[in-house]
Amino acid sequence: MSLPKAIRDVVAVFERLPGIGPKSATRLAFYLLNVPDIFCEEFSDAIGVLKKNIKICKKCFSVADTDLCKVCADKSRNEREICVVDKAIDMLAIERMGVFKGVYHVLGGVINPLEHVGPEDIKIFELLERVRNLETLDKIEVLIATSLTMEGEATALYIKNRIEKLDIEDDMVKITRIGSGLPVGADLEYADEATLSRAMNGRKNM
Ligand SMILES: [Zn+2]
Repeated sequence: MSLPKAIRDVVAVFERLPGIGPKSATRLAFYLLNVPDIFCEEFSDAIGVLKKNIKICKKCFSVADTDLCKVCADKSRNEREICVVDKAIDMLAIERMGVFKGVYHVLGGVINPLEHVGPEDIKIFELLERVRNLETLDKIEVLIATSLTMEGEATALYIKNRIEKLDIEDDMVKITRIGSGLPVGADLEYADEATLSRAMNGRKNM
């Protein structure tokens, strides 16, 4: 049976979301047909202004309401401990545990030659600038928390090499990598809290 166009349009939009197949998309569209109008309005309004109302933090490139995200704006966070993540949602996963007291740097991707993503396409240069601009009065730790995938590992290694080439005394910068709590190939975003906290606590020197 061919569906009315209005429904087909909504199904087509939902199908473009990750993890949503044709069946789920159709189910969602029919679900929306049966909810009060105000729900659909709120739903479309929230999505409509999402991109417009989101700012990118000037310091760490995470999502924010203003120029700085909540973490960067918090003076109690240790800015000499920088946790480098692939995506903002990974930062959220670590923040949820509530134990990390440093700051973050969101790369916005990992190096992936097959997808034509090179070091210049993600925020590596900005990370190097951040590290370089920190005064070397006290030790700096860069904890690289990209996923334990081939691309995540290659990105970690690249960052390590670049930081080592910075004109900073060797013993002032410690470069660490999240530990083996996470299964190889695992994505931070989907890790449960216990696993993630094992990975954070089990960090190793690179
Ligand atoms: Zn920030």
